[in-house]
Amino acid sequence: MFDAILPEFGIKTKFEDPLDPDNFEKMINEHTKMLFTEVIGNPVLDVSNIRAISEIASKYHIPLVVDSTFTTPYLFRPLEHGADVVIHSLTKWLGGHGTGIGGIVVDGGKFDWTDRKFRLFNEPDASYHGLRYAHDLGDLNPLAFITRMRLVPLRNLGACISPDNAWMFLQGIETLPLRMQRHCDNAMAVAQYLTDHPAVKWVRYPGLEQDPAHEIASRQFKNGFGGMVVFGIKGGREAGETFVNNLDLISHLANVGDAKSLAIHPASTTHSQLSEDQQREGGITPDLIRLSVGIESIEDIHADLGQALSVR
Ligand SMILES: *Cc1c(COP(=O)(O)O)cnc(C)c1O
Repeated sequence: MFDAILPEFGIKTKFEDPLDPDNFEKMINEHTKMLFTEVIGNPVLDVSNIRAISEIASKYHIPLVVDSTFTTPYLFRPLEHGADVVIHSLTKWLGGHGTGIGGIVVDGGKFDWTDRKFRLFNEPDASYHGLRYAHDLGDLNPLAFITRMRLVPLRNLGACISPDNAWMFLQGIETLPLRMQRHCDNAMAVAQYLTDHPAVKWVRYPGLEQDPAHEIASRQFKNGFGGMVVFGIKGGREAGETFVNNLDLISHLANVGDAKSLAIHPASTTHSQLSEDQQREGGITPDLIRLSVGIESIEDIHADLGQALSVR
């Protein structure tokens, strides 16, 4: 989106490592309209410090938009940590079954959009009788962003969710706390299992005490650390490919957040068209396996991981 699609619309993005909040400040100039980060980064599973980044956003009066897909509101509520707008892929844990595709934009309603640098909210919109979203909504002026989102991208341009998918997501959200707790418990058990496994070189999971993201994750998250676990398999790319091909219960899929467990070896699949150097730049080492841990019985998950890791 940021690298390939938005530049076609004249929107440029500068990329930096989000782990150090100072990196955001270094990249800000007079043209900057938005700061963006994922709470848990994909695929490395580093965790951003949302409070610290939001303080920089406030200092320069720029909205902070946070992708909280990997945490869901069950673990983390970014608006309470200073984010201005939160997005989620509903396709993942919120829907929970990989059956519907959709997303949601949640506006905190606190950002002041009357600054002239946000042209779309300050100049009359001819498609709505000259409405200036940041000025003409009365008490609702702070809702300028989400009002325009509903009127222009959703109603005028058609980015609305289909009724079938909306229904599936409502079904999913009803069971979110039950599923999410089980995802977290299973993922923690899988991370520990892999840490002790002789065929595994390294494991990243924010719930592991020794993980570099553990401290910030513990301070920010409630109830657990999410359903994603990544690990390095001994034997590199070839071993990664063999492992995924020998899984039985766990599905080989590029999605995340299904009720069932999913695995992918990016180096030989989704990212195989990139050189090894380009892959490493994106945090993808040849040995990296990404697991989206599902809500099955943990004994079944361990058994499948164990048998697939034993094939050489
Ligand atoms: C999948 C995903 C998206 C995109 O969502 P879709 O529902 O697949 O369009 C955005 N952010 C994160 C973190 C995701 O995992």
